[in-house]
This record gives sequence, C-alpha cells and structure tokens, in this order.
Amino acid sequence: MAETPNQWTSAIDTTRPSIARAYDVVLNGKDNFEVDRAFVAEIVKVVPEIYDVATYNRQILGRGVRFLVEQGVTQFIDLGSGLPTVENTHHVAQRANPESRVVYVDNDPMVLAHGRALLAENDRTAVVTSDLRDPKTILADKDVRRLIDFDRPVGVMLVGILHHLHDDEDPRGIVQAYMDAVPSGSYLFITHFCASSEDSREAEKKFLALLGTGRFRTEAEITGFFDGFELLEPGVVALPLWRPEGPVPSELTVGQRLMYGGIARKR
Ligand code: SAM
Repeated sequence: MAETPNQWTSAIDTTRPSIARAYDVVLNGKDNFEVDRAFVAEIVKVVPEIYDVATYNRQILGRGVRFLVEQGVTQFIDLGSGLPTVENTHHVAQRANPESRVVYVDNDPMVLAHGRALLAENDRTAVVTSDLRDPKTILADKDVRRLIDFDRPVGVMLVGILHHLHDDEDPRGIVQAYMDAVPSGSYLFITHFCASSEDSREAEKKFLALLGTGRFRTEAEITGFFDGFELLEPGVVALPLWRPEGPVPSELTVGQRLMYGGIARKR
C-alpha cells in the first residue's frame, strides 16, 4: 500500500546518526548508514562492551516476552521498539501464541519505512510512528485501538528506552500514563542502563556525551519505575540474571552489569 508522505516518512536524516540505526549497527543489522557506523565506532572506544550489551538486551526481550505469553498475555505495546531485526517482539510472541498482537511505537522514520514493509503480511502487528513521551496520542492511535483490547491484559514494554529520557521529561509519569490505560493483570517490562559502579559511571559520562540524551539510573531509581506494581522475581537485576535460561557466570563483567531490567504485574 502506498504510504502517504508525512512529517515522519520524509524525515530520514542520513547526515546525523540516529539511536535506532546505531542500535541496528550493534545488532549487526543492515538498516544503517555510514554516519551511524562511525558513531558506533566512537561509542566502542568508550564502551567496548556495547555489542554485548545490545545482545543481552535482545536476549532478555525474548525471555521477557515468552514469559509474558506464558502468563496469558497476547497483546503488547512495544514502546521505543527500534528497527525490525531478527527475534522482534512479534516473532517471539506469535511463535509462543500465534494470536498475539503487537504494536511497535518508535519516533524514528526508518522504523516506519522498514517496519511497514516487514509487517505488511502480518495483520496482527502494526508500527506507529510517534513520540512515546505523548501517551495520550499513542493510546488514541487508530492502530493501537484496532489491535489492542484495553479490557484484556496488555504487556507494556519500555525495553532499552527510558534512559533516553531526562527527569524533567517525567519518565515516571509517562510509565504511569500507559499503565493507567491498561487493566489489572497487565504487565510492565523495563530494561535500563544502570549506574551501578564506578565503571558504569565513567561509561555513562562518555556514552551520554556522544548520545546527547537521557541518563543512566541507579538500581533503586529503576526499581522506582515499578512502584505501585507487583515486582516479579527476581526483581530488578542485571540483564543476564533475569530468569536465565542457561548457566550464569558467578561474577558479571562490566558489560553484563551495564543494564538492569525487570517485569511487574498490575494488580
Ligand atoms: N526496544 C528495542 C530493544 O530494546 O531492543 C530498541 C531499543 S533502541 C536502543 C531505542 C529506540 O527508541 C530507538 O529505536 C529510538 O528511535 C527509539 N526512541 C528514542 N526516543 C524515543 C521517543 N521519544 N519516542 C519513541 N521512540 C523513541
């Protein structure tokens, strides 16, 4: 179907790196430009483990989505979803339950361009190009309303995204707005860069100087996003420690400790 040009589809800027395309680089994807690869090369100088961090994040995304499907969740709003790569939320969820519905939300126009093509054949999945800091608009979006039944539990995913938001953008209020819109029995799934050690503080400073947006948060601050919800075992932990499906090393590397995550249930 032809796409009506709008502010998003006409806005792919190949002169500056984008978060979505840089993340695609570290996931060894193909939807990126030279400017993104050069940017990642700079990041690698300050956070050499960044490729591993991205891998741990994608792995917990898979484990978390499978876990939520096991809890009976078949609808997902994946906020800050990134470019469609392998093992996306809809691949994992629909493999576990073919009835699963997924709405991807991202403000990067590349996600729309590639996502629409990839998802054209899949009527249980949609890509909404919008800013997740505007829950009202997203929750009223026609594709969100078409695919998500707000009378049934929803998996609200903010995976690898809240550290891009500054405190004055009210990330907790944004999380709350999405959780207010979903019924009891819904779940909140968050992963976040964690300021857990001197190593990570140094990485944070340099990483954010390059990225120019957001901040790492402490374990307590990340746990605070789940206030008011039932935080499920094992709580907010370094990514490889969240319900691992294989053996976990007794001592974690800096890369393994750089992001934390958890899942909570709305009572
Ligand atoms: N959630 C995916 C994952 O964890 O594998 C992708 C995470 S990627 C690091 C962050 C994504 O959030 C990027 O695709 C970026 O375009 C998107 N993003 C950043 N700020 C956003 C905003 N304000 N609204 C919507 N998407 C945003």
